[in-house]
Amino acid sequence: MRVVMKFGGASVKDGESILHVANLVKKFEEYEKAVVVSAMAGVTDALIEAAEKCYKEPSSSYVKLFIAELTKKHYEAISTAVKNPDLQNKVFEKVDKLLDELEKVLLGIGYLGELTKRSRDFILSFGERLVAPILSASLLSIGVDSLAMTGGEAGILTDRNFGRAKPVPEVYSIIKSRLDPLIKIKKSTPVITGFIGRAEDGSITTLGRGGSDLTATLVAAALDADEVWLWKEVDGVLTTDPKIVPEARLIPEISYQEAMELSHFGAKILHPRALEPVMRREIPVRIKNTFNPEADGTVIKKESDSTKDIVKALSLIEKVAIVNIGGAGFDFAEIMSDVFRRLSRERVNVIMVSQSSSELNLSIVVDESDVDRAYSALKPLENGVISVKKVSDVAVVSAVGAGMAGTPGVAGRIFSALGKNRINIIMISQSCSEYNVSFAVSKKEGKEAVKVLHKEFELEKTK
Ligand code: ASP
Ligand code: MG
Repeated sequence: MRVVMKFGGASVKDGESILHVANLVKKFEEYEKAVVVSAMAGVTDALIEAAEKCYKEPSSSYVKLFIAELTKKHYEAISTAVKNPDLQNKVFEKVDKLLDELEKVLLGIGYLGELTKRSRDFILSFGERLVAPILSASLLSIGVDSLAMTGGEAGILTDRNFGRAKPVPEVYSIIKSRLDPLIKIKKSTPVITGFIGRAEDGSITTLGRGGSDLTATLVAAALDADEVWLWKEVDGVLTTDPKIVPEARLIPEISYQEAMELSHFGAKILHPRALEPVMRREIPVRIKNTFNPEADGTVIKKESDSTKDIVKALSLIEKVAIVNIGGAGFDFAEIMSDVFRRLSRERVNVIMVSQSSSELNLSIVVDESDVDRAYSALKPLENGVISVKKVSDVAVVSAVGAGMAGTPGVAGRIFSALGKNRINIIMISQSCSEYNVSFAVSKKEGKEAVKVLHKEFELEKTK
């Protein structure tokens, strides 16, 4: 059995958790395995904040304090997770060296008054680069052969789209050539930094927030693994966010397609692009709880009868806005292509689109953080007939389930349940796969819409 295990930030939040993770990995001694690890919980956010702060209000005393805090956090983790003194010293040295480098970079940002996307990725990479050597040393200290590697060293080669880098097509053969001998011949367990890759010129890139999932699935596909295990702090995928519906239930099996739709529409299951590498190869992805490892978790796999439900899960994205392009009497295709060219140039993340073509009325849902850029990019299209408007304070609710395809009346049931509860729908869209019906409501009605539908489709009941 060959498994790639990824541990998210919450699983390595402190020294005790890291030691727990090492012991968990050790339990699978007879497996061939690679481990992928995220930054300790909160560290990536802290690095983003520090980079912004150094750029906007440079202060060397702030940098000193920030580095001191990171040092304390990682030193504490080392003292608890690595018992052997020799190994401990080696990791202390490694962490010192990294933090020294980070300090210089942060001061540099302040002096130069410049924070490029490239330097931002470089700064973000420290979160994962600090923790991988600690987990690896923790494994060594309990007798599991291991070495720490950066994403670049493991073969995650990407383009230079900093912040959202894409792996190059040859990535699989490169990863295989680097890792296969290690795990097969040396019987070692490499600990690879998630989230980060390397461009051809050596620059460090990041794969987008939550990108460690993608690192894990890339490695799994390259190594032709039997399974990927994503270890988190939750038992698996739930029918919806339990903070909205406390009766939300664990979903034991879900198809790749459904999991992808859910992640795209805001469910924090996994990185939206993470399933691409494993889908074609049909490698199952298991979501498991680090702190409740006996529980079965959720398996994401190829669609089968056992995975089919009409509505399986509901997701909600609250921080979105709509840009509406309206008008009449012109070349529809031409204007559509212009709209999307403009949005893509601005790298706007388009979440959902709905359009009517008798007269032009195109509604585009985007992240709240992208709406101003989207609006300015589209505003120049305005003329006597075309108008561009933005609508803020919107939420998008998505109902996902493979059984919706070919089942008549699902949309009717969704909208009449909402109607009965006086929830006003601003816009609707259904994916062609018919796995998903999504709609926009005002932000203040988003949670209520989820509650209503959870009840309507009796998602709290075990099937
Ligand atoms: N540490 C990165 C983040 O917080 C990557 C990850 O956790 O997967 O986004
Ligand atoms: Mg993280």
